[in-house]
Amino acid sequence: MSARWLTTPCPAWCATTHSDHDAPADREHQALLPEFPLMSMRFVNGGPPSEPRYEPVELLVELDQQYRETEPRIVIGASQDGDMHLTLDEAELHAHLVLELVRAARTNTPVSDDFTAVEIE
Ligand SMILES: [Zn+2]
Repeated sequence: MSARWLTTPCPAWCATTHSDHDAPADREHQALLPEFPLMSMRFVNGGPPSEPRYEPVELLVELDQQYRETEPRIVIGASQDGDMHLTLDEAELHAHLVLELVRAARTNTPVSDDFTAVEIE
């Protein structure tokens, strides 16, 4: 327990470093998994209009628990708003990532190393 605002120890799956200076909105336990690119979606321009740099939309899955919440929640986000279109392989990977975070939360164990450096082929 490294921050005074923590009233209980971090869950085993938390991979965040906490400090006394964390703003209230940032006082949360987190398990982050690497974002992965959705290769069948239209790429988006990540650069200025004069020098376009097209990049794939990325999908992320994480486990978050504010320090006063009773249980964690799965957060699913993307680098772009709107519908996400996943290939079958991407959907399968996404499902495995979600299930791994649910498992880590329910068993209060760390996220498996097999999932902390996933890459889609
Ligand atoms: Zn924590």
